[in-house]
Amino acid sequence: MSKRALITGITGQDGMYLAELLHEKGYDVFGLVAGQNNLRTQLFTESHPYVEMISGNLLDLMSLIRAVAHAKPDEVYNLGALSFVASSWQNARLTSDVTGGGVLNILEAIHFFQDSSGQDVRFYQASSSEMFGKAQQVPQAESTPFWPRSPYGVAKVYGHYMTINYRESYGMHASSGVLFNHESPYRGTEFVTRKISQSVARIKLGLQNTVTLGNLDAQRDWGFAGDYAEAMWLMLQQDEADDYVIATGETHSIRDLLDIAFDEIGVSEWHDHVDINPAFVRPAEVSLLVGDSSKARDKLGWRPKVGFDELVRMMVRHDVDDQSKRAAG
Ligand code: GDP
Repeated sequence: MSKRALITGITGQDGMYLAELLHEKGYDVFGLVAGQNNLRTQLFTESHPYVEMISGNLLDLMSLIRAVAHAKPDEVYNLGALSFVASSWQNARLTSDVTGGGVLNILEAIHFFQDSSGQDVRFYQASSSEMFGKAQQVPQAESTPFWPRSPYGVAKVYGHYMTINYRESYGMHASSGVLFNHESPYRGTEFVTRKISQSVARIKLGLQNTVTLGNLDAQRDWGFAGDYAEAMWLMLQQDEADDYVIATGETHSIRDLLDIAFDEIGVSEWHDHVDINPAFVRPAEVSLLVGDSSKARDKLGWRPKVGFDELVRMMVRHDVDDQSKRAAG
């Protein structure tokens, strides 16, 4: 019998990689989508016809109870969230409810299903390096104290502890992956990597001349989303549930990103193409985020395969291709 997996947030970047990975492994894949048949959902269903979509919302416990009862999953991956840090200050309440409260709802739905059906369900929670915020240690590992610096980070801390609490309270196989930034050609264009890859592609094609950014000195530990989806799956294949930091262990600034992205289109001096606008600077910035994923490397045998340089070039090449197709109509 095929294994069954339910993914919330399936139409996001990570959902796409995870759905593909699970499908390749022979799973029956179910995805939770909020009722509206929006463009993103349509494009997702066209490119992933093997996924059965279930209507539901992390804010609506009853819809989750129904979704879990329908999917009868062996594994649930909670990737659904309002995930753009910068807008979490404008939508602090909604971010708390969806990104934090939504975790409690899905845990409750699973707990109820386990109790009533007797079937075991393994759970993955998408925790985040944003929980380290004003980082108390460099690099950050599983034992590093949290100091979130955005409403998004605070909500993720709530979800993280709730996951641990359900594991300890009910013996649930609930694991949490503290993932550092992970990117790909599917990344939303509001995130800085994709914003840069898309703008650089448009600059190459003569469709725009500059890209407007905020803090160029911000540093992140950026990995490839495809590698990180594999880590999620590995966590749920372990005998014991646990928490794992997933990171490359390397940190780079926005300036490094610009160096590589512009180099990919043959431009060595990018300063004339970059404007700064304080509107893109955050009310509170996180400190140096760089992860220590030794535990995942030892226990899961996980390793990132795609390095930073290759990642940035992959994204720029994809966007040059994509933007040329759009320009050609
Ligand atoms: P995050 O780590 O989830 O917040 O990922 P982002 O890609 O949104 O931001 C990464 C870093 O890039 C943050 O420290 C931002 O302050 C910095 N940054 C600088 N300019 C920009 C910009 O124009 N857009 C975004 N999104 N981030 C920017």
